[in-house]
Amino acid sequence: MFTIQTHAGRMGRWVHTPETWQEAADLMAEHSVDAALSGGSTYLMWRAAKGEPMPDHLISLHRIRDHDEVLDGSVGALATLRRVERGPVTGAHRALTMAASVTAGPSVRTLATLGGNLASGFPNADVVPALLALDATVHLHGGRQVPATEVIEKGLGTNDLITRVTHDLAGQAGWSGATLKLSRRGMDLSVGTVSVVLRTEGAEVTDARIAVSALFDRPVRLTTIEHSIVGADTSEETIRELLELVPVAGKRFLDDQEATSGYRRRIAGPLVRKAILLAARLGPDGTPATGDARM
Ligand SMILES: Cc1cc2nc3c(=O)[nH]c(=O)nc-3n(C[C@H](O)[C@H](O)[C@H](O)COP(=O)(O)OP(=O)(O)OC[C@H]3O[C@@H](n4cnc5c(N)ncnc54)[C@H](O)[C@@H]3O)c2cc1C
Repeated sequence: MFTIQTHAGRMGRWVHTPETWQEAADLMAEHSVDAALSGGSTYLMWRAAKGEPMPDHLISLHRIRDHDEVLDGSVGALATLRRVERGPVTGAHRALTMAASVTAGPSVRTLATLGGNLASGFPNADVVPALLALDATVHLHGGRQVPATEVIEKGLGTNDLITRVTHDLAGQAGWSGATLKLSRRGMDLSVGTVSVVLRTEGAEVTDARIAVSALFDRPVRLTTIEHSIVGADTSEETIRELLELVPVAGKRFLDDQEATSGYRRRIAGPLVRKAILLAARLGPDGTPATGDARM
């Protein structure tokens, strides 16, 4: 383990490079009041660039081994989003692969990690809806496992370290996943990101999980819409009618520098509809074409 003293000031005066999760946990316990973990540091850099105060100690996780795998059903917390976007392109897991492909630009994705996106806790995080739609389990150092929904609703404990994320839909027949993002320009933060994970038999939806980020103050599952489409067919007409009956609503739409709440209210329905239709069109075995993940 190295500790480096920096002179830059903005990103912390001390950079620690633990080689195991336990070393990282010990450093967090020692400095937690004045420390931040760093996966790729891209979210931290972004906050520092906006003038937010940074802690004195940065605990970089990049030297820890064996937690960057990208497999159907298991992704290490230290996997870069560049690796995640090159992951499985079929089945339910496709939702996560497509989500990573539309997060920031390629240079940021080369550094940014899955764990960092999940832990950042900001409303526009693009990968989080896929984890919610996959009903993912978050593995923490020390052996504790918590549902991704709980991490989003309650946040992480100060010293919690995410080591990997798993889901149980790997190789399950009939499942299809997709993610669709709307942003003003290619590399901008999201105006709305929707991940859909569906099981279909013929043209009928038999199970559905839908989650969004950037529409509300935090990513959420749209359970009412999920229930409404089970038993429906996946024609555009049916999905359009159902979303008119059960609109994306109930919470205050987000108002930020990317879009007003009024704009988000208008695009929420079409965005969710297109994401459902995309997951249905791709089916369990289809491969998304370039641009499919963007509205
Ligand atoms: C130019 C630019 C554009 C961006 N565009 C997007 C975008 O379009 N969509 C989007 O979603 N994000 C975007 N981001 C934000 C950021 O890149 C992503 O959220 C990224 O996934 C963060 O990952 P990271 O590894 O760099 O996190 P870091 O910055 O290293 O960490 C972020 C937070 O997570 C915590 N953390 C990191 N790893 C762990 C872990 N294993 N366990 C527990 N806590 C941990 C850190 O302590 C910190 O609080 C952008 C950032 C920049 C600079």
